[in-house]
Amino acid sequence: MGILVQKFGGTSLSTPEARQLVLGHVKRELEQNVQLVVVVSAMGRKGEPYATDTLLDWAASNGDSLPKRERDLLLCCGEIISAATLCSLMEKEGIPATVLTGAQAGFITDDQYGNARILDIKPDRIVEELNQGRVVIVTGFQGQTANGDMTTLGRGGSDTSATALGAALHADMVDIYTDVNGILTADPRIVENAKPLSHVSYTEICNMAHQGAKVIHPRAVEIAMQANIPVRVRSTFSDGEGTLVTNPEGFKDVEADIVDRFVTGIAYVGNVTQITVELKPGLEHLQLHVFKSMAEHGISVDFINVTPSGAVYTVSDHDGSKAVDVLNNLGLEAKILAGCAKVSVIGGGINGVPGIMATIVEALAESDVQILQSADSNTTIWVLVKKDDMVQAVRALHNKFELHQ
Ligand code: ADP
Ligand code: MG
Repeated sequence: MGILVQKFGGTSLSTPEARQLVLGHVKRELEQNVQLVVVVSAMGRKGEPYATDTLLDWAASNGDSLPKRERDLLLCCGEIISAATLCSLMEKEGIPATVLTGAQAGFITDDQYGNARILDIKPDRIVEELNQGRVVIVTGFQGQTANGDMTTLGRGGSDTSATALGAALHADMVDIYTDVNGILTADPRIVENAKPLSHVSYTEICNMAHQGAKVIHPRAVEIAMQANIPVRVRSTFSDGEGTLVTNPEGFKDVEADIVDRFVTGIAYVGNVTQITVELKPGLEHLQLHVFKSMAEHGISVDFINVTPSGAVYTVSDHDGSKAVDVLNNLGLEAKILAGCAKVSVIGGGINGVPGIMATIVEALAESDVQILQSADSNTTIWVLVKKDDMVQAVRALHNKFELHQ
């Protein structure tokens, strides 16, 4: 009997109606005679009673003096409430179910509280419960250190819990259930006619996720890719098949236009600050110090262009003023432009396609969007624009590459 891992995100669990739909997906799969592991997130989004952001706000409202270790303990409550709720609904329907916390499910992590990395999974307990004919509900987003302290895995952590369990259990498939019909050519919240993609490769969605498409966490995709476990991203709220994520060999039977498409989608990250450092002649050696100092102060940098006379790069808006202080301490002056956004055109086959940059420049010029900086790789072309232009830029590029068709 094969193992299926289902993961349900916050919106899929936040209302009684949604939870009934979750039960429907569980029952349908059980009828296929699979062993089922269900990974749950905390219910709802910011503002709703047991959502992770609500627990964080609660901690902040108490003075925010909670140590990191204890904060993780608090954050683990959201998934526990979700799991217990779902267990109760299953038992009511006569589906035998057991809840396991991240720790009980065998997740061993390092001790970076709030953003712990999975070191190992010992899923013996899960296997035991499955073999007794029970559905195993696992609280996502959690693990424990070797000392038995509870940890959380950071944003999107339940996606990672699900694919990591898929890998550890050699599951046939991991289904990520969310509030959209799979992976689309752009975020449907800003591009109304974004199109669901029936198949994408691990690499394509990994790139999209790294560039801001938060429909699935990039770490989760990397884990599935290494273990070569197929992932389906699909909606709790419809019966659609969603998007199948596999290696390109998994596309063998699908139409040629999917295999040959050169642009997969458009993604964006808002709230970045562009920093321009000009180095006076004779001071070029300071280039190294610029980036070393950023690293020493824990400021992560992106979109780096180094020239003989200086450097341009971005940091998050949150780190902007800290970055300027660091540069001033080096005796350097910097020009900063806060409130920017990085928009990415992502594809499997961008490399060497003639005219693609021209098409991007044309699309943005037609929409009066100014390009502040650009860069490209084999699979992605990035442009930096003002945050106020971000939505317009995403829509213009989506339109120009005819991704809705
Ligand atoms: P969950 O709570 O189920 O984990 P998330 O909010 O993390 O849900 O992810 C789903 C959201 O991802 C969607 O509501 C959508 O707005 C957003 N999203 C961003 N980019 C994309 C994309 N390319 N395709 C699909 N959804 C996207
Ligand atoms: Mg998510």
